[in-house]
Amino acid sequence: MRPHYTETEYAAAFWRKVRMDGHPRGCWEWTASKNEHGYGRVHRGGVFFKAHRESLRMFGVMVPHEQLVLHECDNPSCVNPSHLTLGSQLDNMKSCRERGRSNRGERNGMAYLTEDQVREIRRRFSGGDGQASIAASMGLGRSAVLKVCKNVRWRHVV
Ligand SMILES: [Zn+2]
Repeated sequence: MRPHYTETEYAAAFWRKVRMDGHPRGCWEWTASKNEHGYGRVHRGGVFFKAHRESLRMFGVMVPHEQLVLHECDNPSCVNPSHLTLGSQLDNMKSCRERGRSNRGERNGMAYLTEDQVREIRRRFSGGDGQASIAASMGLGRSAVLKVCKNVRWRHVV
């Protein structure tokens, strides 16, 4: 017989497995068991569920089984509901192709910068280089450089 637990106990155990240190809008890392693709997984009622889908459920978003949940941050172990969007398989393939799969943060208008480029831009900007000269010497558009210098969404890159 399976041990009985309430939803509250389940939720408490769930969130104990999540690390939320760092930036409040940063990724919430699943620290427990993961599947071969890096998605967090969690045991409930004798079945494994994907942790990020469970996170949405606990935030009151009912996700139909066939509905895909996509990580805007490209970090499969992240369970921050604000980084998750519902999408179709088509969206998923399209966004994978557009941004590559490896670097989180490479999305939404700054899709073509790598995290290394972001670090380089920050380093030079904080060292006093102007945005125009950074852009020119790195072969980047000036608006992309400007966004990195201003945009909070890149703060997870340190
Ligand atoms: Zn995330």
